[in-house]
Amino acid sequence: MAGRPYEVRRRRGREFRKCAGPLHRQGKWIPVSEFGIRAKSKRLRSHCRACEHVHRYKKPPRDGLVGYVQMKKFRFAVMELERRLGKVEACRRVGVGWTTWQRWSSPTCLKIQKRTAAKLIQTLAEVRAKGEVRHANSIRRGASRRGEIELVPVEWKDFYIQAYDSHTESRRKWRENNPEKEQAQYVRAKAKRQAKSAAEKALKSEAKKKAA
Ligand SMILES: [Zn+2]
Repeated sequence: MAGRPYEVRRRRGREFRKCAGPLHRQGKWIPVSEFGIRAKSKRLRSHCRACEHVHRYKKPPRDGLVGYVQMKKFRFAVMELERRLGKVEACRRVGVGWTTWQRWSSPTCLKIQKRTAAKLIQTLAEVRAKGEVRHANSIRRGASRRGEIELVPVEWKDFYIQAYDSHTESRRKWRENNPEKEQAQYVRAKAKRQAKSAAEKALKSEAKKKAA
């Protein structure tokens, strides 16, 4: 059974549905994106998310922020905070765990809670207002937490680029897991280096002989 049809109005390119839940007793037109979707029938739920929150927890949402928004709109904030402060400090400031941060960095993460997204943007605004950028070495050392004097980034290489770090980290893990391969690689590289220097020496001595 599909249930009774409900009216959806279109205004300025957005669709609205009437909600008559506990927050909107008089009936209010709410954007369709603010409604949940029924799992089975894929139809919109009858009350908006904020009203469903009231129904569930017997009180209105703390800051009026309920539901999710698209993650792709906020990934820039994740990247920027990470590059300015480092992952660990960024987690601390936003008030989320490491696992959450890792998930956000992944392209498979599609949505983020509105409340968390708001915190993310607020943190970024604060950090930007202070002009806070940390030196890569200070980030890796955790200098601010140890109460040490932080370095000041001057050149571009002083800035923290996460891609570089995850690369070194994956290399370190690989070395740990494949000690024999690592050893073999080292031996091969050494042989190559020695062969190269020997060839250079031979070339030089030949050049000397020719000159003489
Ligand atoms: Zn409502």
